[in-house]
Amino acid sequence: MIPAQFDYIAPTSVEEALAALAEHGDDAKILAGGQSLLPVLRMRLNAPEVVIDLGRIDSMRGIRDDGDAIVIGAMTQHAVVGSDPLVAEHAALISKAVEHLADAQIRHRGTFGGALAHADPAGDLGAPTLALGAQFVIAGSGGTRTVAADDFFVDLFETAIGEDEILTEVRVPKHTGWGAHYEKFVRVAHQWPIVAVAAAVKVDGGTISEARVGLTNMGSTPLRARAVEEALAGQPATDEAVRSAAARAAEGANPPSDLNGDADYRRHLATVLTRRAVLAAAGS
Ligand SMILES: Cc1cc2nc3c(=O)[nH]c(=O)nc-3n(C[C@H](O)[C@H](O)[C@H](O)COP(=O)(O)OP(=O)(O)OC[C@H]3O[C@@H](n4cnc5c(N)ncnc54)[C@H](O)[C@@H]3O)c2cc1C
Repeated sequence: MIPAQFDYIAPTSVEEALAALAEHGDDAKILAGGQSLLPVLRMRLNAPEVVIDLGRIDSMRGIRDDGDAIVIGAMTQHAVVGSDPLVAEHAALISKAVEHLADAQIRHRGTFGGALAHADPAGDLGAPTLALGAQFVIAGSGGTRTVAADDFFVDLFETAIGEDEILTEVRVPKHTGWGAHYEKFVRVAHQWPIVAVAAAVKVDGGTISEARVGLTNMGSTPLRARAVEEALAGQPATDEAVRSAAARAAEGANPPSDLNGDADYRRHLATVLTRRAVLAAAGS
């Protein structure tokens, strides 16, 4: 189908984009890579009067080292994030997740910030950013605020970004030297996961000193598997110890039931994938 008619604005700065959002309010929709928005418009599930394209705002693109964090511009395409050496060195969990995100065409158009703002519970970037304790920088007419990952994902397709605000960048604390792995379970290649697990672990002399584990599609938002993280701390990076901790992966989760699998199946998957992800991250 063809989208309903809309006016098109392409600002070249965040300030201009915010002014356009303030002027058009509910009638406006932000366009990033268009990989989620355009299908919605084409199916006429949404018919904004104005589309504000962020594609010409250079300041929202790119990756930089900022001391104890890596900063990823919201308009940076998945393919750029996935091949960036800074991300690979200091936030390897994100590189690993991007490897599994959709197909090459979508990775070249879709953006890091667009995917996170879209907040699909099956999206591959929520769990790794949550696990690594990312900070989301959001600009609005009153200035800029920073929201912790724990508070950013509010509900199904809902984040802390207000109607009149724009996600400009994501700050990911460095986890240099940590092992990382993203284990994604799909029925069809290049698709959203039925369940996926993002694991980052710090191993010192064969012992897991710290672990961070995020779950994809185990609830209406990405989740931290905190029971697993606590159970892993101080344990040897062995199959037996990891298997025992991973058994707690679904604690507190509220997974959906759909044609791909019911909630119990997803709970079981979470334990299996967590074991695999943690062992791979630990290099065991
Ligand atoms: C066939 C297909 C398969 C896919 N498979 C996967 C997959 O396996 N895993 C996965 O994670 N994703 C998958 N995706 C989604 C892909 O990651 C998209 O790139 C992503 O969801 C949206 O990013 P975008 O830049 O295209 O945003 P857009 O589609 O342009 O925007 C998405 C939404 O976010 C809002 N938005 C965008 N940027 C901002 C911003 N900076 N501030 C505030 N609001 C903003 C828009 O208004 C819109 O509501 C798939 C998409 C398709 C079409």
